[in-house]
Amino acid sequence: MPRPILATIHPQGLQHNLHRAQRAAPDARVWAVVKANAYGHGIERAFEGLRAADGFALLDLAEAERVRALGWRGPILLLEGVFESRDLELCSRLGLWHAVHCDEQIDMLAAHKTHQPHRVFLKMNSGMNRLGFPPARYRAAWARLNALPQVDEISFMTHFSDADSPRGIVHQLQVFNTTTDGLPGERSLSNSAAMLRHTAALEGTSGLRSDWVRAGILMYGSAPDFPEHSAAHWGLEPTMTLSSRVIGIQHLKAGDTVGYGSTFTAEGPLTIGVVACGYADGYPRHCSTGTPVLVDGVRTRMVGRVSMDMITVDLTPVPRAGVGTPVTLWGRAPGGTVLPIDEVAQAGGTVGYELMCAVAPRVPVVAD
Ligand SMILES: *Cc1c(COP(=O)(O)O)cnc(C)c1O
Repeated sequence: MPRPILATIHPQGLQHNLHRAQRAAPDARVWAVVKANAYGHGIERAFEGLRAADGFALLDLAEAERVRALGWRGPILLLEGVFESRDLELCSRLGLWHAVHCDEQIDMLAAHKTHQPHRVFLKMNSGMNRLGFPPARYRAAWARLNALPQVDEISFMTHFSDADSPRGIVHQLQVFNTTTDGLPGERSLSNSAAMLRHTAALEGTSGLRSDWVRAGILMYGSAPDFPEHSAAHWGLEPTMTLSSRVIGIQHLKAGDTVGYGSTFTAEGPLTIGVVACGYADGYPRHCSTGTPVLVDGVRTRMVGRVSMDMITVDLTPVPRAGVGTPVTLWGRAPGGTVLPIDEVAQAGGTVGYELMCAVAPRVPVVAD
């Protein structure tokens, strides 16, 4: 029997969350963001749940090829555009739309030989200071692109840095609005946090429409603004379950310690379960005593340090547990109880995004 750790992807959860995204932005088309191998879910497995999207957004050309190989004929957007000139050949061949965020990418387009003009998304740096043209140079970049025979339609995009927090999006929205004023073309704004938290700001009150929203983390059942709001608050369902089993039991007496560094000491008699899951599976090593875990669907806590291949859990709330008892590290337990990935991420000092992207290659993945 293989080691019992397993990641299970839930296509129905993806479908449900995509629908939630569509309801959050009813007038917009939805890019399903599937970068990083669909946030660790696997593009091929996630595709089944996300095929009702209007397009797929990603940034790795090999991933774009995989989406086309699945038979997807609709829009695919390269969020970071091309990295070198010959990437444009693949864009022409596969009909990929691509972001243009710097002068070098315009130079490459100007030198590109194609019979098929490209649809591009001109990216503005409206304050995040990652990719994009600064507002002062944005219209000149547009004019340059607009004069190229290699370019078909030009759309406008920007990315919000604080959609999940009090600073919000209005300052960036105003910059974007002012800078694009009067230019013809579709607009793409909004990550998950903006879609869930700032719908009013995007719906006309500012005079700004978003023709394409970019839904990422919400489709994967994690709340972009946890702990202020939970996935359940936003009506999202888990899309990935990481599960394993108890492989050993230890009976401790007062004063006994657990694991490397003896970071946990039993105050009295305590039964602990040893679970086949460790940091080499992608379980965050920064999780320590107190991190929630489900044993046979019952919520309990991790104790001691995360090892490479094992963690140890308090079995007090589940006295019936023994070797072979199912354990849910995050996601949905067999009985239906959910342990939100965001709670585990928080205990490890990180975010749900990182946990789902970091499930290790040695963990088998199946879809239910
Ligand atoms: C990753 C990404 C998104 C999706 O962000 P979420 O927070 O996962 O919704 C949207 N737009 C761009 C440009 C991205 O890189």
